Amino acid sequence: MVDDSLNRTGASLLIEALQKNGINNIYGIVGIPVTDLARLAELRGMKYYGFRREDAAVDAAAAAGFLTQKPGVGLTVSAPGFLNGLTALAQATKNCFPLIMISGSSERHIIDLAQGDYEGMDQYNRAKPFCKKAYRVDRAQDIGTAVARAVRTAVSGRPGGVYLDLPADTISQFDTETDQKDMGIYKVVDPAPKQEPSDEAVSRAVDIIKNAKKPLIILGKGAAYDRTEKQVQELVNKTDIPFLPMSMAKGVVPDNDPHSAAAARSLSLKNADVVILIGARLNWMLSYGDAPEFNPNAKFIQLDIDATQFDSSQKISAPLQGDLQSILAKLVPALTATGYKASSDWLDAIKADTEKNDAKFAKRISAGETNPEFGYYGAIEPINEYFQKHPDTYLVSEGANTLDIGRDMIGMQLPRHRLDTGTWGVMGVGMGYAIATAIETGKHVVALDGDSAFGFDGMETETMCRYHLPITVVIINNGGIYNGVSNPVPNQLGPTTLDPTARYELMAKAFGGDYYFVSNYEEMKATFAKAVDSGRPNIINVQIAPSMGKESGHIGNLNPTLNLKPL
Ligand code: ADP
Ligand code: MG
Repeated sequence: MVDDSLNRTGASLLIEALQKNGINNIYGIVGIPVTDLARLAELRGMKYYGFRREDAAVDAAAAAGFLTQKPGVGLTVSAPGFLNGLTALAQATKNCFPLIMISGSSERHIIDLAQGDYEGMDQYNRAKPFCKKAYRVDRAQDIGTAVARAVRTAVSGRPGGVYLDLPADTISQFDTETDQKDMGIYKVVDPAPKQEPSDEAVSRAVDIIKNAKKPLIILGKGAAYDRTEKQVQELVNKTDIPFLPMSMAKGVVPDNDPHSAAAARSLSLKNADVVILIGARLNWMLSYGDAPEFNPNAKFIQLDIDATQFDSSQKISAPLQGDLQSILAKLVPALTATGYKASSDWLDAIKADTEKNDAKFAKRISAGETNPEFGYYGAIEPINEYFQKHPDTYLVSEGANTLDIGRDMIGMQLPRHRLDTGTWGVMGVGMGYAIATAIETGKHVVALDGDSAFGFDGMETETMCRYHLPITVVIINNGGIYNGVSNPVPNQLGPTTLDPTARYELMAKAFGGDYYFVSNYEEMKATFAKAVDSGRPNIINVQIAPSMGKESGHIGNLNPTLNLKPL
């Protein structure tokens, strides 16, 4: 046992360095060698949140990073804990969420001679391909530098995940080297320096937009992360350029703004002659910018902090490199000074298509309310109604059909109020994201999950209940991955089949939360607002017909299909 009353162990230096940098929450799972580190963090005034699986803890830290623009901190034990956290570290990096994953580890000399330590593994080298950068801190006296590097790497340039390897020795080591008064612990100065594009780059973009007949803005989660809402709203309002929000950019401009092209997505992509990407990538979610989804003659303008993103799949005619706020601070006045307005023909075409699609959608919703076969539309409409009345509620969503239909149905009015499966379209992030969102914002959170998605991290129900968080988990249960009715071999459960009669809500009961079971629209309508308003942790198990839901949701085109016949 080390006497830490002098505040000079590696552990206390680490805690002090995190606090100096404005980080006060740790999401993790303890065990050898980080248990006392977490206890000491609590004693020093930090908040420690203990999870049940490391991926959920590190996902939580990533969500905290997205919401606060400061790196979230995830803490794990060595090898298996580290590996469980690694998927979340990789996801955060893909999503451009700032995160520091700290894992306890073994001393270098044991690892390098492969002597077989308890949970021994070369974590530092294993982590490297899955994050922006990995650092290893072998001496307590270097903790200040290590945290400074980790913080700066996570938030500067394109944000992402950082791995910090913390050997057991470093945790309990006394720093005897540095002067007692200055132990190398400091607050990083300007961790994410502003970067402005050149005037030339700005006028290149303005010249292209000025001549656009059918311009379109695509907003990505970078725009949400960088808090560009005021600037983007000014851009849209002054130029009348329609916008299309990617799912996590919903609310940067309110979904009910008349410039939204969301309901005319296909038409606007297919016809736009100038596409302005603001913190969005031309990846699989945007069909790489290719025809036929996009106009083959479209010109692309891209605003991004990472210059290597430009030309990833289309020629970028006007790349604007910098942080989005600095770019928009130059671009918006330069463009509005020209008096440019998008043509009314273009806006009318989008409006007409929107009205047509909205009418179709309204039919589906009203059918969902009355259809005796209870499905997604009937289940989700009460959620949308609630969000229109209470826009300052947070939504976390995952699942295939649940995610897709919920994204289209639930209008968001405020930025950064929606977190979902992100760039990888990954399942199992819902509970971690929801828990961190409740903690970081202090607001009510709705976690809208498919039954399969919930299965990946359902045990975090205990975490949500233990901390008495105001989270309503809605599980849309159609008894399967995609749905629960495909059985290629008679009398055998199919690979996508789960239990359609599962009483998921009783998991909340087990841990002292509230629990609801609904199986029709009226019940959902009567239950949902009550459940959220209670401010208590709860699960609503929404049993819909197992036949509801398409294979792979809206991305069935990505799923190779075979001619499935018995031999
Ligand atoms: P979406 O999935 O919503 O389309 P992506 O995650 O694909 O969004 O794209 C986000 C983009 O935003 C990334 O290319 C990233 O480099 C960029 N980005 C993130 N933060 C900033 C920032 N502060 N300033 C500029 N660009 C940013
Ligand atoms: Mg399902």
